[in-house]
Amino acid sequence: MSLLSHYEILGIDSDATESDIKRAYKEKLLAIHPDKIKNNAKAKANTNENITGNENKSPISVNHIQDAYKILVDSKSRQQYDKELEEQFKKMGFFNNGDGVEEISLDEFEWNEKNEYRLNCPRCKQVDGFEFDEDALEEYGYQKRDSCEYLMMIQCNSCSLWIKVAYEMV
Ligand SMILES: [Zn+2]
Repeated sequence: MSLLSHYEILGIDSDATESDIKRAYKEKLLAIHPDKIKNNAKAKANTNENITGNENKSPISVNHIQDAYKILVDSKSRQQYDKELEEQFKKMGFFNNGDGVEEISLDEFEWNEKNEYRLNCPRCKQVDGFEFDEDALEEYGYQKRDSCEYLMMIQCNSCSLWIKVAYEMV
């Protein structure tokens, strides 16, 4: 089992469109192709592409990319895969798929001197249903693609509602 999701292997969001997937697939294949790596060694040094650059270090092979593409480009198998992924993330304590998960700006949270953020749950009204500290943002946040914004998934400690906290790194 790969530690990276098919989306991560292709470097796309879980809501990527079919054309996003096709473009990402071509880009990744080009990036990982051994000849290209030699020829473009200079060019690559200027990109921030770390995943596929170094063959020895890279956990991603052409097979990984092809598998990821095959599954994601077909809407049926992609749906199935999304479900599996969701289960996997739930087991890990995360819920990945963005669909239906509300984004709430960090500004909406109450902040205290201990660098803790709190918010009453909008669904069950639990006081401080969502609470976390600044370290959690660093540890669990991930960057939104093509954006300077970051997101972190968090679950209400009372009703299990998931939300995405949206924030910018300073
Ligand atoms: Zn709640």
